[in-house]
Amino acid sequence: MRYDLSELTLLRCSNCGSDLDGLSTDVIFYCCECGKCWISDERLSPIDIEFVRVGGSDSVLLPFWKVDASVIMQDRISRRESSASGISGFREFTGREMGLTESDSGSRNVRFIFPAFSTSLVLSTGVRMHRENFLPEKTEHGKRFRVIGGSVGKDDAALLARAVAVGVEVNRTDYLASVDLEIEVFSASIYAIGCTPDKNVLRINGSEIGILFAAINDCDDILRQDKVFPVNSTS
Ligand SMILES: [Zn+2]
Repeated sequence: MRYDLSELTLLRCSNCGSDLDGLSTDVIFYCCECGKCWISDERLSPIDIEFVRVGGSDSVLLPFWKVDASVIMQDRISRRESSASGISGFREFTGREMGLTESDSGSRNVRFIFPAFSTSLVLSTGVRMHRENFLPEKTEHGKRFRVIGGSVGKDDAALLARAVAVGVEVNRTDYLASVDLEIEVFSASIYAIGCTPDKNVLRINGSEIGILFAAINDCDDILRQDKVFPVNSTS
């Protein structure tokens, strides 16, 4: 997608009046003049943003959703461990011979982090970040950076968080047969996470996780933007 004038979203920061740059599909905008982050629904609403793993001069800061939710497991059925293979020659069904067991009903609080920009790898990235127990490492305070806009809105973020929750269950090492869960989002905000181009992927700083350039819709525009730098220091 070309980044030309006709595709720019013409919006102004409600706090300081500066223009907010973004692609026509963007709904998340960070004002690097005053440091406020906005999400557009029917109107612009403020949303919290934190800068994490900012990295060096090659980094670009991309928006990710940080969704805290309670995951309510309605029904989870897994097969118990088995070794029905001809190689090992024995099987190890504990429980009923069919090996089906229900477990894990109830609810727990979980944090999901996944891309808020357009990529076909939102879910797998979210599952990997969960599996790596992604932690901010270091949150920058009192600085402002350039942040790429995001195109995943709040309603979509709630849906995606549920999909990541299902993905996390599928990724567990038992033999999942079916899962039925709901999530209740109690807080959603933005992490601007430093990512560094590395061969054909954008690698999340301090992590093994890379997102293929080919899977990022506006990759050329993202990489063409000014790199991360402190725009202003407020402290
Ligand atoms: Zn502003």
